[in-house]
Amino acid sequence: MSGPVGSLPTSGDAVLTNLRLIDGIEPGPQDGLSIVVRNGVIMSIAPSSDVRDEGAIDLGGSYVMAGLIDMHTHLSLSLPGSAGDVVSSLGPHDLAHYMADGARRTLLTGVTSVRCVAEKGGGDFALRRAIRAGRVVGPRIYTAGRGLCCTGGHGHDTDDTLECDGADAFARGVRTQIKAGADFIKLMISGGIAGENEQIATPQMTREEMAAAISTAHAWGRKVTAHAGPAEIIIEAVELGLDCVEHGYELTPDAARLMAERGVALVPTLVVTRAGAFFDELGVPSWMQERSLSAGARHLQSFRLALDAGVDVLLGSDMPPFWKFEGTSAVIREIEHMAAGGMSPLEVIRAATRAPAQWLGADGQIGTPAPGHFADLIAMTDDPTVDVSALRGIEFVMKNGVVVRDDRARAR
Ligand SMILES: [Zn+2]
Repeated sequence: MSGPVGSLPTSGDAVLTNLRLIDGIEPGPQDGLSIVVRNGVIMSIAPSSDVRDEGAIDLGGSYVMAGLIDMHTHLSLSLPGSAGDVVSSLGPHDLAHYMADGARRTLLTGVTSVRCVAEKGGGDFALRRAIRAGRVVGPRIYTAGRGLCCTGGHGHDTDDTLECDGADAFARGVRTQIKAGADFIKLMISGGIAGENEQIATPQMTREEMAAAISTAHAWGRKVTAHAGPAEIIIEAVELGLDCVEHGYELTPDAARLMAERGVALVPTLVVTRAGAFFDELGVPSWMQERSLSAGARHLQSFRLALDAGVDVLLGSDMPPFWKFEGTSAVIREIEHMAAGGMSPLEVIRAATRAPAQWLGADGQIGTPAPGHFADLIAMTDDPTVDVSALRGIEFVMKNGVVVRDDRARAR
């Protein structure tokens, strides 16, 4: 459907034929199918021989799956260093355009939904409105607004966080983000890689502060995720009701077991401790380089402990998903790290589609190509259930029934 004169289509009708479908449920692709889309929603999936349509898009046997859901992004990210300084010095108007450009490139990369986990200046809420209205091309946005940290805590140096101290201030912080439109809440409960005055293991919220933030968010029906490194504070937060752990650099078997028991997800963001050449390019300072790379082995061990314990693992790039990374994008590189770290291709595909949709409470809408769900789809020539690197070859992206990228059409 198109809206006012000249606005971008926000939903579409289409018939896709001659495709191999990967639904994240069956172990492998199902051949020779067609998908009928009406007003952005999948109406039916049937053998191609049963579907006759003049205007059908012939996908030539490509592998089709749900669009990727990146559960840890920052479209306004500014890391320490020269490249980050440029972003953090943008005024609100420039920042809005910068984020809109990032949203478009995110979608073209094959990421049809993002979960933003700390964005600057309320730009995420404006961007979400603009995408929904058809003023900007971009993914579906689920956002925490600004992250909540203690004074001087992780991420405090730009306005993508809000400094709070004490239980009352954290409860108020939660309410201010919900008032602004937050879908969930992001807490910084420990230090990290990009903070000069802290260490990964520095605890940054007291038990009372975490309890106040989590119970306030839950009372308003919002889940809570936490930037978190060390096992001790993760265990404390999970016992208080935390719903998701970001990074989890230093999990122990006990922490992983507790997370699995309580149904707490992990977004490992493996790429952030495996990005030497990339950080050089961004001009990040040497202290950050060293901290990142020296945390890599423990981070991977932590990821494996989570897998062994049966923790629900979800895709998250931390970097803007489209950033160029070792011959592909940050999000696809993260997918490759998850596979190399011990997940099967099908497990990775689920972690990138169905499982995030479930965490977001949107599993009836996104994350699985099925009748009644939004037509958010990607296609590629090779089979990602054999090797996830096939996702490097994404050549077709549809969001809500609108084709936003079709490299095959260009090649014809
Ligand atoms: Zn992050």
